[in-house]
Amino acid sequence: MKELLPGLYQIPVPIPYPLKTVNLYLFKGNGEVALLDTALGTKTARGTLELSLAELGLCFPDVKTVLLTHHHPDHYGLAGFFEGLGARVYLHEEELGRGHRFWLQPEAFEEQSWRLFLDHGTPEEALWGIRETMAKTRERVHPPQNPLSLRDGDLLEVAGRRLRVVWTPGHADGHVAFFLEEEGVLLAGDALLERVSPNVGLWAYTRENPLKDFLASLDRLEELPVRVAYAGHFGPIPHVRKRVQELRAHHQERLEILATHLDTPKTAWELSLNLFPQELDAPGRRFAFAETLAHLEYLRLEGHVRREGPPYRYFRA
Ligand SMILES: [Zn+2]
Ligand SMILES: [Zn+2]
Repeated sequence: MKELLPGLYQIPVPIPYPLKTVNLYLFKGNGEVALLDTALGTKTARGTLELSLAELGLCFPDVKTVLLTHHHPDHYGLAGFFEGLGARVYLHEEELGRGHRFWLQPEAFEEQSWRLFLDHGTPEEALWGIRETMAKTRERVHPPQNPLSLRDGDLLEVAGRRLRVVWTPGHADGHVAFFLEEEGVLLAGDALLERVSPNVGLWAYTRENPLKDFLASLDRLEELPVRVAYAGHFGPIPHVRKRVQELRAHHQERLEILATHLDTPKTAWELSLNLFPQELDAPGRRFAFAETLAHLEYLRLEGHVRREGPPYRYFRA
């Protein structure tokens, strides 16, 4: 645990995913305790978090406010647990209708989800692995029952600090970053990561053009007077503009590579194998597929690519 500013702590918590840890942020001041993101509902995560709180003389029920950057399991997993102990949980309004509902009423999306994979060429046997992964993840996610909504531009007073809500869709529809304007500190969630490019995926329940959203969010972040950004994973990002430019260039390059595979019609699943040829487990293949599909739909909605089907095959326009 690290104190980033007086009363603002970064708590790294282990997660059983390739990213290894998720960074939570704790605000303590004015007799108030707030947690930004919550980690996944595993014994290890809960234990780590409990120890970190104890170091500050706190226990779980002291957390009265939970702010969530987005609905992904590593950030949202314990939100319902804290709500059950009396915390108010906040999520962006866009997340309430989609990402949050995905956990709260999984059956509402199940059929659509499998349909999306099948319509885009995913073989049945690959789907089994994906189903298994999702079922396992669900056991570790405790959705809040009555989360409250955040809107872009909201100014929150949390434990003696003021946070501006910055809606940054792309990695998730209702992803938000929190900007401490007076300190020039951005709590970026997964909108910017130091070492990897945040996954930008098209799923059955997302907005139609996540990559376009993501690039627009990068434009917004580039404009903010940020001194340093702290993200949901990995280390700090001291040069936000430089990181934004790198991520933009990365997606441009991936789009160009994708276009070279589109001389003959191919499904998103086939293309994801071309673009991510490395050996990946079921969750990894699922992310590779969703990211490839996001890039394909970006090109299609920009008029560079067409598709026929289902099963959908994409080719250069
Ligand atoms: Zn995420
Ligand atoms: Zn994350």
